[in-house]
Amino acid sequence: LSDRLQGAISQVSSGGTITEADLKQMMREIRLALLEADVNFQVVKTFVKSVNERALGSDVLKSLSPAQQVLKIVDEELTALMGGELVPLNFSAKPPTVIMMAGLQGAGKTTTVGKLAKFISEKENKKRPLLVAADVYRPAAIEQLQTIGQQLGFDVYSEGTDADPVRIAEAALNQARLQGNDVVIIDTAGRLHVNEELMAELRNIKAVANPQEILLTVDAMTGQDAINVAQSFNESLDITGVVITKLDGDTRGGAALSIRSITDKPIKFTGQGEKLDALEPFYPDRMSSRILGMGDMMTLIEKAQQDFDEEEAQKMADKIKDASFDFNDFIAQMDQVNKMGSIKDIIKMIPGLNKLPGIDEFDVSEKDMARVKAIVMSMTPLERTNPDIISQSRRKRIAAGAGQDLQAVNQLIKQFNQTRQIMSSASNGKMGNMKKMMNQ
Ligand code: GDP
Ligand code: MG
Repeated sequence: LSDRLQGAISQVSSGGTITEADLKQMMREIRLALLEADVNFQVVKTFVKSVNERALGSDVLKSLSPAQQVLKIVDEELTALMGGELVPLNFSAKPPTVIMMAGLQGAGKTTTVGKLAKFISEKENKKRPLLVAADVYRPAAIEQLQTIGQQLGFDVYSEGTDADPVRIAEAALNQARLQGNDVVIIDTAGRLHVNEELMAELRNIKAVANPQEILLTVDAMTGQDAINVAQSFNESLDITGVVITKLDGDTRGGAALSIRSITDKPIKFTGQGEKLDALEPFYPDRMSSRILGMGDMMTLIEKAQQDFDEEEAQKMADKIKDASFDFNDFIAQMDQVNKMGSIKDIIKMIPGLNKLPGIDEFDVSEKDMARVKAIVMSMTPLERTNPDIISQSRRKRIAAGAGQDLQAVNQLIKQFNQTRQIMSSASNGKMGNMKKMMNQ
């Protein structure tokens, strides 16, 4: 999606003003981009219409940076399309809060139960979620939930495969009340396709469990189908929210764009991987930026806040501020970044830098890291803190000391200078926010 939209936008962004014909062409590209991303036809139609009306009504044609204006409108409309704002989980004033999962087989229900339990205990401070195995049709499904419970250290309520899921839900709730669990998350069975038998079972569980949340999990990679599934589940179950799973495998984001406006139910979370921490609250504005390829600053910031040792982050922020970033920091930063994921992934999330030429070569493997460290260790302390003094003859000496060839040393110094440049543009330019957040 983003490539095509970006193309449409940059087509007109070079020149100053644009004509009505340019705008028409742009709308055509936007429409195609959305359709290609499997966004529902009706949704596309309404969306393009409102963007077009706003663009025409807002003097875009006379403005100095029309492409920027249109981009802003598209961004705002995409955000609105996906619900505008984060919709948090509902918690009951009288615990336990009951969250019931629903969805087709393989959509990611059981995994999401684990992810939610972890999220709720860490972010919502509800320390004792009880996981309930109400998918009784396959022994493997129960074992899967038990494994997840064990991994996270949470209790799993199960009665094996012989019991009735509705009775299980009821009994689990009783146990939760007795044991003082503050949240109960009910895993349910799915089917390969939507059918009445499944819906009836889910409705019966809903009737006894009286859940605050019925979260439908849909697989982003099923595209248009995810939207149909969401519509049927919502019609027969009146869901309270949606979790879009496997968004890590779907670059087009079509499901995210359609589901809200088709079902009028909020997307509450997205699944971004198989691991139990790969769950993110759904912020429509961030998703819109991501789709538009403008980078997802807030997600980056949160990632940084999670993984950076705070003291380290503060030190780094100071270095960025006074531009005294040196090779010692470079190494420290590499270690930090390594914890957060690949450097390339991180940089791609930073607005303005994701289009950097050569960004794709900017990855550093473990092997590279070892080589880089060897080279830096061969520098004298003076060289490490004053990188600018590293002359040709010093480079030769460093290369020999590190057992690397001169080219490797040259390359590293080049990369270091690039990083330093990024750092300084970060503190001056578009990324002033990053500095702000690091200082918080
Ligand atoms: P269920 O049948 O609905 O309970 O689905 P499961 O939770 O068993 O998940 C089915 C498969 O999808 C498993 O292999 C999960 O690891 C995988 N999965 C679930 N959520 C995600 C996600 O967000 N990203 C990725 N890549 N895989 C996921
Ligand atoms: Mg399951």
